[in-house]
Amino acid sequence: MAKKKAYVAKDCVACGCCVKVCPLDAISVYKGLYASVDTNKCVGCGKCATACPAQVITIEAKEAVLC
Ligand code: SF4
Ligand code: SF4
Repeated sequence: MAKKKAYVAKDCVACGCCVKVCPLDAISVYKGLYASVDTNKCVGCGKCATACPAQVITIEAKEAVLC
């Protein structure tokens, strides 16, 4: 079963609030444009989703896509 991870929707306003609260340094703001999650580090704790003022982070368990 897939583990839960954070996913950022396209409406991210790049405020950086999520970056400050992540205990694993798994989320960063890419080139000042939008937040990006390192899914290898993310443990799905949900702290970033709680901190996001735009409410664009969801914590989901998605199966890996094999191609
Ligand atoms: S769910 Fe937790 S570990 Fe994953 S990016 Fe958000 S704060 Fe970091
Ligand atoms: S807290 Fe939300 S709006 Fe701000 S950078 Fe993170 S995902 Fe984007």
